[in-house]
Amino acid sequence: MARSYEKSKQAYAEAINLMPGGVSSPVRAFKSVNMDPIFMESGQGAIIKDIDGNEYIDYVLSWGPLILGHTHPEVVKAIAETAAKGSSFGAPSYTENRLAKLVLDRLPAMDMIRFVSSGTEATMSALRVARGVTGRDKILKFEGSYHGHGDSLLIKAGSGVATLGLPDSPGVPADIAKNTLTVAYNDLTSVKAVFESFGSELAAVIVEPVAGNMGVVPPQPEFLQGLRDLTKEHGTILIFDEVMTGFRVDYGCAQGYFGIEPDITCLGKVIGGGLPVGAYAGKKEIMKQVAPAGPIYQAGTLSGNPLAMTAGYETLSRLDAGSYDYFKKLGDQLEEGFREAATKYNIPHTVNRAGSMIGFFFTNEDVIDFATAKTSDLQLFAEYFRLMAEEGIFLPPSQFEGLFISTAHTEEHIAQTVEAFHKVFAQLAR
Ligand code: PMP
Repeated sequence: MARSYEKSKQAYAEAINLMPGGVSSPVRAFKSVNMDPIFMESGQGAIIKDIDGNEYIDYVLSWGPLILGHTHPEVVKAIAETAAKGSSFGAPSYTENRLAKLVLDRLPAMDMIRFVSSGTEATMSALRVARGVTGRDKILKFEGSYHGHGDSLLIKAGSGVATLGLPDSPGVPADIAKNTLTVAYNDLTSVKAVFESFGSELAAVIVEPVAGNMGVVPPQPEFLQGLRDLTKEHGTILIFDEVMTGFRVDYGCAQGYFGIEPDITCLGKVIGGGLPVGAYAGKKEIMKQVAPAGPIYQAGTLSGNPLAMTAGYETLSRLDAGSYDYFKKLGDQLEEGFREAATKYNIPHTVNRAGSMIGFFFTNEDVIDFATAKTSDLQLFAEYFRLMAEEGIFLPPSQFEGLFISTAHTEEHIAQTVEAFHKVFAQLAR
């Protein structure tokens, strides 16, 4: 029997008059999959439940943060204990030291960290620091990469802006946009050309070390090293935006996995364990320029919030090298299952993956950048999303987002998902 989404429909009808598009963040409106959004009520482990009582195996995981799954008992307990002592002080709390030590310990190239409350704040602040330190204005980013919604970064962006076809948002002043240069991801030749023309004016190159906002697109072997060499040569700051990849692709983040040291690292998602957190970390000589140690200003009323610091600490301290072996094993199972089902039913497909960050595309082309990501059949994707939801599998409602796995997912969950692939592709093949 088809699932009922009646209560979600009612909640959405009310929300649409309360919030723009009925949501607090655009992709949640399910626009690109042509259905009304599903309102969620609770989650436990790998399972999420909507307000109509439908259950799903969750591959969204709040867009990445819930790497231990929903409501991990120890994390919930620690948050509750911290909340009972006070939710915010506007003064330092030791919870900040604990998380700072844990994060810096795993990122040997980074010496100091500043906590903020979202990934957007992390990247905006990192750019200010890069500009402040170098005295330059221009930055280079990659088409289809998303680094939050800061003015300088909302240029040819991915994620929700790609989903809604709004690559360059109104409201970004032309005077700011002109300082953001863009080239295709993985296109080192174009990066070199930009450096030849503007090398001495470039404050920063900002890159997702595995792109996760045009679907998942891993870097080609020489790409990140090429960026490192060029930035070093021209006195440009290399910013790794690890908001998504941080502690997701590996224990030492993408920089540990690929063995490349950026100058600044942006973090978010996993380091907040599902509570609002962002951070930027860097070499001492850079971070000592940030106020009050130095003159570059950046601040936040709720930055370093004790609840968020606790959720992050409790989450990160439960991950070890073994967790990533587990993600790889489940990732292999999911990828093989998808390929097998898509091949059986003659569905065009390409799979890109970095551990438990997975991108399924409905195209037979290699997906190496935004242009090739866009060759995916978006109509087919929308159908696939809806039918998978019917089978109890909750996927990101956009082709230009990745799937995530948590430690709470089991081989059984993956097997159920693969079974759903078979059922859904059989319908799509007709
Ligand atoms: N950078 C990257 C790589 C991201 O994936 C995101 C969010 N998906 C952000 C920055 C922005 O983070 P937030 O949504 O917390 O502002």
